[in-house]
Amino acid sequence: MKMIEVNNLKKSFGKLEVLKDINMDVNSQEVVCVIGPSGSGKSTLLRCINLLEEPTGGDIFIEGDNLTAPKTNINELRQRLGMVFQQFNLFPHMTVMENVILGPKRLKGKSQSEAKEIGTQLLDKVGLVDKTDVYPDKLSGGQKQRVAMARALAMEPHIMLFDEPTSALDPEMVGEVLQVMKDLAEEGMTMTIVTHEMGFAKEVADRVIFMDEGFIVEQGTPDELFNNPQNERTQAFLSKVL
Ligand code: ADP
Ligand code: MG
Repeated sequence: MKMIEVNNLKKSFGKLEVLKDINMDVNSQEVVCVIGPSGSGKSTLLRCINLLEEPTGGDIFIEGDNLTAPKTNINELRQRLGMVFQQFNLFPHMTVMENVILGPKRLKGKSQSEAKEIGTQLLDKVGLVDKTDVYPDKLSGGQKQRVAMARALAMEPHIMLFDEPTSALDPEMVGEVLQVMKDLAEEGMTMTIVTHEMGFAKEVADRVIFMDEGFIVEQGTPDELFNNPQNERTQAFLSKVL
């Protein structure tokens, strides 16, 4: 089953055409990494997929349901997508646990005790059970990002979208965040990950998409894309980042 299907997606901001004609699919349990230069439209693509931006044209289907159809229940559909950003966006006045269980309580109608049970499991999964009652300002960047992942997972998403989750981190914290993503991949989570971590993409991705100037220029397995890129723009980009 296709978890995400994007057909002829276009997105402009005023006169600026950011996404020009994007076609992509993500299959169940697939890990897709999206790479490409800054400004190529990677974030805009993810933001269109969960309707943080409204597409200018084209269609997006989530598990077969048309995201852009007028009848669609956007809030229900959005709950199937978990999103993790470069900036962690934790609520500073809430503890780690409160941050994680807010969504399940407010949006999924979970009781405090049910939500805490889920929260404890997820904080254990991301290695932070000992931080349950701590406020975010006491956490490192890597720990904050792991809380943000636990918070997204607490909504029981069917698909996880990551937008450069390690770009704001000090280098020594990148590994712990990538490890959580690796664990998720091994558990069969369907994931789309915008990243500059080429080593991670090589190791974990089932498929790598290279974007440039609002187009998908090339895609393939990590081996195809990294070791034998066909397009000269892919080659030029990789020669700078590898
Ligand atoms: P990437 O994530 O690949 O670096 P983005 O999707 O963030 O690229 O941005 C692509 C282009 O769209 C950039 O030129 C950026 O300035 C522009 N852009 C992104 N969001 C907006 C917005 N809300 N309003 C106007 N321009 C935007
Ligand atoms: Mg971006």
